[in-house]
Amino acid sequence: MKTIRVNRKAAARVASGHPWIFSSDLTDRGSAEGGEAVQVVDPKGHLLGTAHYSSTSQISLRLLSAANEAVDLSFYRKRLERAAGHRRRIVEDTDSYRLVHAEGDLLPGLIVDRYGDYFVLQTLDQGMERDKPLLIEALTGLFSPKAIVERNDSAVRARESLPRQVGVVAGDVPPRVDVQMNGLALEADLLGGQKTGIYLDQRENYLAARRYAHGAALDCFTSTGGFALHISTKCDSVDAVDSSGPALETARKNAARNQLSNIAWQEANVFDLLAGYAAAERRFDTVILDPPAFAKSRSSVEAAGRGYKEINLRALRLLDRDGILVTCSCSHHFSEASLLEVLAEAALDARKQLRVLERRTQAADHPILLTVPETHYLKCLIVQVL
Ligand code: SAH
Repeated sequence: MKTIRVNRKAAARVASGHPWIFSSDLTDRGSAEGGEAVQVVDPKGHLLGTAHYSSTSQISLRLLSAANEAVDLSFYRKRLERAAGHRRRIVEDTDSYRLVHAEGDLLPGLIVDRYGDYFVLQTLDQGMERDKPLLIEALTGLFSPKAIVERNDSAVRARESLPRQVGVVAGDVPPRVDVQMNGLALEADLLGGQKTGIYLDQRENYLAARRYAHGAALDCFTSTGGFALHISTKCDSVDAVDSSGPALETARKNAARNQLSNIAWQEANVFDLLAGYAAAERRFDTVILDPPAFAKSRSSVEAAGRGYKEINLRALRLLDRDGILVTCSCSHHFSEASLLEVLAEAALDARKQLRVLERRTQAADHPILLTVPETHYLKCLIVQVL
């Protein structure tokens, strides 16, 4: 294995439990090529671990192991087995879940989502891209999948100088794959749907929302209908809104499959819709807000705060006493503390007192690594108007 030397700052970062080393902290790259697994040493030559090297990203090294360890088929097999073992303990009532959550499973740059016997792979750095054949071999050996799909259309691949590509890399995949989740029969479009098909990270929050949902509900940013379908039987009616026609088409099919007939699907811009409803003094008993990430980078956090405040304020204006708001943020740059703060500001502006019923995060199959804040991205607050 080739060796890359890093400065003291990088060594201190590694000692603090973070697996990333930035480009400016590399002092000698030797002859390492992008995508190779390398030995990382500190200025004195002491081993920091084994990492994947990226030749173009600001994040040049992502540590895979604290030892000098070969990153081969057996390495991936062991890590995947560990990830699967963890899921066996924590995943319930679904045949679809995240099998590998990058750093959260000590496999930076790699996402694997499982939809029954179909697997979806994202190789998001040069190292995982280079090792794709090994990953496919390891997944095939361990799980005998019917097919493996790559959903490498994520924008982050550009930083690694990797092309966007989507396709079937093993086996055959039907246009729609059946998913069983929390007693619902859903379908997912693994090649064309949002993310890797559907939003697996909200799975536990759907059940939490169902505990409190009642009356007339409004599900904003519904996508393929995750929240709306889950709360339908607890509510008199559900209005579900999204700007994506294809996502709503899947949502409609999902509702029909589960014989849920009280959901009205609407293709609209949520911002305009909420403004219109507030002006018309419409009232709901339950409102769900699950917007796309407003803060895509650190520099957009302030603008994101204004966006989150605005939609939360508009949503609160639609709720009376005992009304329930489920409000989410999937920007890891925007902390839970920030979300609580903008929600408090919105509540003051709307003259409503809120009781916090639950402070939640992404489903447990998207594990959070304590010393890697980037792995904690989803926040979900459930509050009640007093
Ligand atoms: N709640 C969904 C996931 C929502 S993801 C679930 O649990 O499955 C965010 C969604 O917001 C996407 O489906 C996207 O199409 C939609 N979206 C983005 N901007 C929007 C806008 N301005 N108005 C309505 N929908 C929007």
